[in-house]
Amino acid sequence: MSKITSQSKDFSQWYLDVVKIADLADYSKVKGCMVIKPYGYAIWENIQSELDRLIKEAGVKNVYFPLLIPESFLQREKDHVEGFAPECAVVTHGGGKKLTENLVIRPTSETIMYDTFADWIQSHRDLPLKINQWANIIRWEMRTRPFLRTTEFLWQEGHTAHKDKAGADEEAYRALKMYEDFDKEFLALPVLTGKKSDREKFAGALYTLSTEALARDGKAIQAGTSHNLGTTFSESFNIQYQDENGELKRVWQTSWGVSTRLIGTLIVVHGDEQGLRLPPKIAPVQVVIVPILKDDSKDKVLAACNQVVSDLTNVRSEVDARDTVSPGYKFAEWEVKGVPIRIEIGPRDLENGSCVVARRDTGEKTTCELSQLFTVVPKLLKEIQDNMFAQALAYREENTRSADTYDEFKKVLEEHGGFILSGWCGNEDCEIKIQEETKATIRVIKEEEVKCKCVLCGSDAKNRVYFAKAY
Ligand SMILES: [Zn+2]
Repeated sequence: MSKITSQSKDFSQWYLDVVKIADLADYSKVKGCMVIKPYGYAIWENIQSELDRLIKEAGVKNVYFPLLIPESFLQREKDHVEGFAPECAVVTHGGGKKLTENLVIRPTSETIMYDTFADWIQSHRDLPLKINQWANIIRWEMRTRPFLRTTEFLWQEGHTAHKDKAGADEEAYRALKMYEDFDKEFLALPVLTGKKSDREKFAGALYTLSTEALARDGKAIQAGTSHNLGTTFSESFNIQYQDENGELKRVWQTSWGVSTRLIGTLIVVHGDEQGLRLPPKIAPVQVVIVPILKDDSKDKVLAACNQVVSDLTNVRSEVDARDTVSPGYKFAEWEVKGVPIRIEIGPRDLENGSCVVARRDTGEKTTCELSQLFTVVPKLLKEIQDNMFAQALAYREENTRSADTYDEFKKVLEEHGGFILSGWCGNEDCEIKIQEETKATIRVIKEEEVKCKCVLCGSDAKNRVYFAKAY
């Protein structure tokens, strides 16, 4: 097995090594695209099935819209097309002929969906309309990294229409809370949540809300977004409804999404020098059983291992019975893959009716009676899940600092990275200057009353905001 570069030596190379050695994805012949391998895809499927359940519980129904969008649809909304045009892949030919109208491969589906919404929505009785799509997206990227930024990626995009601003506000914040809870509960990811600055918001949105995690290299990573689109799109796409009094009104809309970037987020938040660490609830394999095989006891040991798999009902477990590699090699391989629990069973353990249980999150090893595994393992999985969240939260808290002056701000950023909480006057010029000079951007705005000064210009601050360098 190849060696993983140390996180402290070169975090970016560490990341690429983990993706490759944990067998999550391969590079494709098309630059910027990735091949998601079975182990990586299994993580995505677990994310998908848990999140899909939460989306449906909120009364949102799944649909599927076409991959190709008429170019004129995109051009109907000025801010939207300005934001997305540079990243669009455009189909000009089909069936050997030049098309009469170019087709854009979806960079996001607002325009194609909302053209249809105009037909679907006539009356207040048609509202709220809440749909979701699981799909692939193309955004032409110059600098790519598997899962974190790829030209093609997988995601879900929720799209809703409401009678008024209050309805859209409520839905935008509901989706944000859904992501925050999902990140905590399933991915063991603590995230900061809040509004983006106007400069960082989605092209065409009234405002954008975001979830932000902190990677182990001190950089922020945007894990999910939820937008209140206001009436921007209902004006361009003429989506109107007749209210209770027969009056025609424009709908208010939201859209919200998370993508395969969540897998990248898991890696950069939870990974350590040995590789990936997966939270049990999302791990494709929660428990791996490694037999210590000796010629005379091989069959007995393997039978005991298989028995453990049958005993562990409702646990995703498997036996690594390969006899071509040593147990030590297997330990290292499953460690890189981030499997939460490893159980070792050898001939001597079997004589004692016991086994060795190793935790990936702490590296701790204990002896356990085989007959007790069915109660010990589920408890331990829960403990690991909780511990991983606690570890990530402690890391974020240690790496969130406040700065009142610009000198202090630059010093903290250079020495520690992480999140920096500072006052901001709300002026875009200050935001741009800070980014140009330090590469730090506003990740989220803290929505509370404050009495402090802008970290750059010293005038009264509108809000305190979290700055960070970001992925
Ligand atoms: Zn300022």
